[in-house]
Amino acid sequence: MDNPPTDTPPPLKRNSNDVGWEYGVLCDARSLDKVKCKLCGKEFSGGVFRMKEHIAHLKGNVSACPVSSKEDQEKCKKAVLEGKNKKNLKRKHEEALRAEVNISKDSGTEELERELGALKTPHSQGPIDQYVSSINPEASLAAHTRQQSIHDAISKEKTHVVRQYCSRWLYHTSIPFNAIDNDSFRLFCEALGQFGPGWVPPSQYQLREPLLIEEQQRTKEKLKILEEEWEREGCSLMTDAWSDMKRRSIMNLCVNSRGGTCFLSSKDTSKDSHTGEFIFNYIDQCIEDIGADKIVQ
Ligand SMILES: [Zn+2]
Repeated sequence: MDNPPTDTPPPLKRNSNDVGWEYGVLCDARSLDKVKCKLCGKEFSGGVFRMKEHIAHLKGNVSACPVSSKEDQEKCKKAVLEGKNKKNLKRKHEEALRAEVNISKDSGTEELERELGALKTPHSQGPIDQYVSSINPEASLAAHTRQQSIHDAISKEKTHVVRQYCSRWLYHTSIPFNAIDNDSFRLFCEALGQFGPGWVPPSQYQLREPLLIEEQQRTKEKLKILEEEWEREGCSLMTDAWSDMKRRSIMNLCVNSRGGTCFLSSKDTSKDSHTGEFIFNYIDQCIEDIGADKIVQ
């Protein structure tokens, strides 16, 4: 053997310039949590961050490495501090960004909002007021109409400003324009509106790991309901072929039932000639997967 048995297999080494990886390796290549100190052999969870704390003798979360030199300790301590500073800077940057947003100011509707506020506030409210307003229905109607028109004007201007924010995000990130018609996006906008100010978007890690896993689970649950429906009521198989923007020929298979239509699979068929036999084989396999007894004409 060329390598001594203590050598770490390559997948456990992280392709990262984090100084912590100079002192540790992953215990399991599939998880970034469990790490092993290369100096003393101790294993613990908490990833590369905990590794730096271990080497630097930063107490609280993990025991100090009995082997790390003064130089190692200083190196890791510096990295931990830099990381904290970076995080603080990021938080400050985000706070400053949020503070920039003031859609009343951006839309120039502050004046109108003040007027609306004044119209809505009753000057004095006594038992006689209900009779006073009924004596002069025209004045009360005029006030109501004025309120409505101010409200509409504010709403129009603010809508425009929020649309500018939205479009800027789309332009900066090259999101295709048709994403705006996506129902999930509409639901997100509504949810965000109901939440109100101060919502913190998910991190890239949350998108990549826990949120993705949850969404996959949710999709599976929804599919399960559809599959039960296919079992009870039967379903139809639908196929179509089209070319995408890269001029690839794509064939789709969808299942339709009373519960709705669901996508089943797609195939890049650019290199295949679409003979009757080819299409038959693709669909036939799919019918087998679903169960032939569930397909209805
Ligand atoms: Zn150690």
